[in-house]
Amino acid sequence: MKKILFAVLAFVVAGCASVPVTGRSQLSLVSDGEMNAMAIQSYNSLISSAKVIKTGKDAELVKSVGAKIAKAAETFLRDNGLESELASYSWEFNLIESPEVNAFCMPGGKIAVYTGILPVTKNADGLAVVLGHEVAHAIAKHGAERASQQLLTQYGGSLISLVTAKKSAQTQQLIMLAYGAGTQVGVLLPYGRKHELEADKIGLILMASAGYNPNYAVTFWQQMSAATGGGLSSDIFATHPSDTKRISEIKAALPEALKYYKK
Ligand SMILES: [Zn+2]
Repeated sequence: MKKILFAVLAFVVAGCASVPVTGRSQLSLVSDGEMNAMAIQSYNSLISSAKVIKTGKDAELVKSVGAKIAKAAETFLRDNGLESELASYSWEFNLIESPEVNAFCMPGGKIAVYTGILPVTKNADGLAVVLGHEVAHAIAKHGAERASQQLLTQYGGSLISLVTAKKSAQTQQLIMLAYGAGTQVGVLLPYGRKHELEADKIGLILMASAGYNPNYAVTFWQQMSAATGGGLSSDIFATHPSDTKRISEIKAALPEALKYYKK
């Protein structure tokens, strides 16, 4: 009996986390170490097979805006007693030549922007909207939460013993499956609506803290909607939140974000 109770407690301890900024509690059955190790592998293989733009003003802008947003995220974590989390991140921002109007983030802060989105971002503020959103996915650990949910759905109760027994190799294999890491493309499955809206909200605060005007997010999403004819797809353009829903949620979150925007 005692043993069972202990196992359950261990599961609960290992199974809960909360999202910075929003404080939402989330399921967390996989460690940062495990998630990040796999993400780095996927990211590196994607980067090595993609056409990465390394020089020029666009590539420089992606890196400089990315660095400022990442710094804002780290300051936020530090200010909120989460400095122990900082070691989990190794930020990387790359610009990839592709007509896709998109960007993505892998756990641990591995981010890429496609050149196809630059005509929509237009300037540093627009890029800050996109990168704020992507960095938000990383610090909110949406990838780990999604993998955890899938593991729980697929393996249910048997997962508890797996996780608590820390059979690392086996657990890793399961995570790999759930993570889906689109091994062919190296990109995560699209995030759900809840994660998208949460990343928007956290992203506003990050961009504002980094010195970018969060009001621009409304303009950006209107431009995105026009550019894609309202039919959005993949990461930041997940089909789930409709453009109008997204824009109205962003407007509602602006007063809070503006508190972080010091001119
Ligand atoms: Zn997203």
